[in-house]
Amino acid sequence: MSFLLIHPPLVKPCEAPPGLAVLAGALGSRSIPFTILDANIEGILYLISLGSPVSDTWTKRALRHRAENLNAMRRGKLYANLDRYKRTIADLNRLLQVQGMKQGIHISFSDYQDGSRSPVRSDDLIEAYRHPEDNLFYPYFEERIPLLFDRFAPRTVGFSINFLSQALTAFAMIGYIRSRVPSVTIAAGGGLITSWMRNPCWSDPFSGIIDILVDGPGEGPLVELSGKEFTTGDQVPDYSALPLPSYLSPGFIMPFSASRGCYWQRCSFCPERAEGNPYAPLPPLETAQNLGKLTQFWDPALIHIVDNAMSPALLEAIVRNPPGAPWYGFARISELLAEPDFCVALKQSGCTMLKIGLESGSPRVLEEMDKGITLETASKALHILKKAGIATYCYLLFGTPFEKEEDAKMTLDFVVRHHESIGFLNLALFNLPAYGPDAAFLELNSFYEGDLGLYRPFRHPRGWERPAVRAFLEKRFKRHPAIAPIIRRDPPFFSSNHAPFFCMTGMT
Ligand code: SF4
Repeated sequence: MSFLLIHPPLVKPCEAPPGLAVLAGALGSRSIPFTILDANIEGILYLISLGSPVSDTWTKRALRHRAENLNAMRRGKLYANLDRYKRTIADLNRLLQVQGMKQGIHISFSDYQDGSRSPVRSDDLIEAYRHPEDNLFYPYFEERIPLLFDRFAPRTVGFSINFLSQALTAFAMIGYIRSRVPSVTIAAGGGLITSWMRNPCWSDPFSGIIDILVDGPGEGPLVELSGKEFTTGDQVPDYSALPLPSYLSPGFIMPFSASRGCYWQRCSFCPERAEGNPYAPLPPLETAQNLGKLTQFWDPALIHIVDNAMSPALLEAIVRNPPGAPWYGFARISELLAEPDFCVALKQSGCTMLKIGLESGSPRVLEEMDKGITLETASKALHILKKAGIATYCYLLFGTPFEKEEDAKMTLDFVVRHHESIGFLNLALFNLPAYGPDAAFLELNSFYEGDLGLYRPFRHPRGWERPAVRAFLEKRFKRHPAIAPIIRRDPPFFSSNHAPFFCMTGMT
């Protein structure tokens, strides 16, 4: 049994896909033959390498500077000059954008949308499967996949599908492979597949297309498919089969996962909670030590800890066993992050940036969503992290069922009061998980997005509807003189994935 594992387009092409590195580790350690195709980075670079169907001044300039811009993205110097970085990204992105124009496809470094097909309608995905030639990446994978089959003759092809932006191309690739090698076994897993399968109304619309759908972690099912035994917790990620020099970052960003699920698991809007994903951490001390060993071996420019929330135990273990390279990840506001000595030690361990789900500046909203944080602690933590030299990437959520306009104004006031301590901001409009416990208490709208939709529109119980929230964000929040500079320094398309490099060059 040999495997071909595919990471389909499109996700931000700045780092190795963490899921495939874990699968590679699990298969490799049991001597199960496999090969990996990161079709995301390869496909994006392929599109950028093509001639342009349009010839306006911008596109001509983007074509002329294509090679030097790609090189610049992979060197640290660019990340010391935000304006140059933004120009470089915009020019490269233009080359993607123009390729999509003739087919009505909106493509960028962070998204793929087909004007005529939706990734949340199974009928549309089946059409994408039946007509792979409609996909923008078709010329790339039609050339690439036969080479891999000729060389490795895989019996099973596994797709790792984590985001909606990957779904249409994944199905097009599956359709192409099926038409060429009907006998091959097709497996698909990843975050998006898991979310679909956790829907209580799930009834597999893809039988005859995908042979094995994996709900949850994929390493166990893949190892067992090859007739070998799998034990949870003994897998170490392996990045060697991934095209590390190709990614658009100044050095290797090493993704690393220390847990699945979330140790808090209580925020009422959270898809992790709605899907009932169990919390499964690796032992913190051992994990921190393993991270150190991996860092020594792979010598990354940056470690990305991809956990939903790093537990306090993990943070403490990393402080005691610094990995030996700069790192960043998601952490919840806690008393620990409001301790000056601890934050200094965290910085010394290599912590460059923490992503923090602050969500709201209204104490009532925080309490009703069971966020488990207070604004007093958040305020202290933001100041202390800033003082310790750790940048914060703060996530705010507007339009939750608990929020009124006055609450959104409190969030604005909180951010204004703390603008000097906040490195970056992510502003999101609330989406109601379609099948979570919260949906039961709300009046749902009948708008039908598709049978695979992850969210449900609802009537806001306090009349704070999406258009009003959007207007508040655009006209008041983002334009506030203390907030506008924070919004402007967000790296376009790559956002938090590239933000730590700007922190390292002293921009925040
Ligand atoms: S901390 Fe984050 S991942 Fe955990 S429950 Fe809250 S929103 Fe979900």
